[in-house]
Amino acid sequence: MPLLVMKFGGTSVADLDRIANAAAKVQREVERGYDVIVIVSAMSGKTNELVGWVEQTSPLYDAREYDAVVASGENVTAGLMALRLQEMGVPARSWQGWQVPINTTSAHGSARFVDIPRANIDAKFAEGMKVAVVAGFQGLSPEGRITTLGRGGSDTTAVAFAAAFAAERCDIYTDVDGVYTTDPRVSSKARKLDKIAFEEMLELASLGAKVLQTRSVELAMRYNVRLRVLSSFEDTDENSGTLVCGEDEIMESKAVSGIAFSRDEAKITLFTIEDRPGVASAIFGPLAEAGVNVDMIVQNISEKDYDEHHSGAVTDMTFSCPINQVARAQKALEDAKAADLIRYDELIIDTDVAKVSVVGIGMRSHAGVAARMFDALAAENINIKVITTSEIKISVLIDRKYMELAVQALHDAFGLEKAA
Ligand code: ADP
Ligand code: ASP
Ligand code: MG
Repeated sequence: MPLLVMKFGGTSVADLDRIANAAAKVQREVERGYDVIVIVSAMSGKTNELVGWVEQTSPLYDAREYDAVVASGENVTAGLMALRLQEMGVPARSWQGWQVPINTTSAHGSARFVDIPRANIDAKFAEGMKVAVVAGFQGLSPEGRITTLGRGGSDTTAVAFAAAFAAERCDIYTDVDGVYTTDPRVSSKARKLDKIAFEEMLELASLGAKVLQTRSVELAMRYNVRLRVLSSFEDTDENSGTLVCGEDEIMESKAVSGIAFSRDEAKITLFTIEDRPGVASAIFGPLAEAGVNVDMIVQNISEKDYDEHHSGAVTDMTFSCPINQVARAQKALEDAKAADLIRYDELIIDTDVAKVSVVGIGMRSHAGVAARMFDALAAENINIKVITTSEIKISVLIDRKYMELAVQALHDAFGLEKAA
């Protein structure tokens, strides 16, 4: 029997009517002859509420109990979806992660899949069950504890099931009708893409486009899962939405395909550090140990400075990290300074920055993308604080208050409102 994976995000299961609407989409696929694995998120807002309860109860919480609490939102929607399908006459049952079992690592809060044995679910399909409704976002650690996969993790559950069960396709139903050139909530000129390459989607997701969790795209790329993003609120067919696929299937050849942004960034500068071998490692070692996800890094050109503090050349080092890790980063750096592992004169923390990135596989063959990007930002008088590039993306750190303006200006500058 051909099999489909259908994932419904939080807004798509936000209340009983929406669950019924999603169930009708599932029923349609069953009528077309598919066995279906449905992956559900918690009702929208539920996971945030659960996280809030944990933080209020225990600010430095035990991550195992955090997972026990926040995984529960998905259990409710899985059961309700199975009940709704049964009411419609579709043979269905729900599965929590541990029942499958979805085996993960024990990295609570950001666990990774180890394996998903098919036997239990396959046995039920063989008995005539048509739909397995699986709670997204959760798994089981080797120690027998409930784990979660990180925010947005139900996307990754869906792709992992599609890979494990060799699904014909993995359909991600959400509150937009596909992947756009940028977040349609930020630019009204954003255009829906019919197709996007895995590499581009991976960059967009990791640079802030939350339409798919980054790891879901990684898995889809690795296992060649046919991944599609489409609307749960519109009538859809085989051609709806956006297909995330291999580069060879893409016709469009623009330099830039999409723009991503991330609001929650911070910039930290260490003023007057020594410029000698080993200094960068002495700075970033303690940050890594403290679990700080350092993103962009720039080091200034060295200056000779033989003042009373420094016996040799000095420079400054700037890096960015997620805003909620600033306290941890500051402590790690101050502790390292106190232990005389590093020296700096001053630590400057800027928490009013955002990152805007342009992404496109076309950058490999088009020259001048950076110049065009910087021109467009200059024309809006937006100052660039840090720049990083890779083969298919350019990211800049700017003042957060200019983020929307920057996204719109870049969208215009690269002509994204029109197809190639
Ligand atoms: P779900 O609850 O279904 O998982 P999410 O809120 O996680 O949905 O993701 C969908 C949201 O992603 C959209 O509402 C949209 O605001 C946002 N988004 C960000 N970038 C993009 C993009 N490039 N294309 C489409 N949606 C995007
Ligand atoms: N409910 C989880 C979250 O809000 C997982 C998901 O929806 O993908 O992060
Ligand atoms: Mg999501």
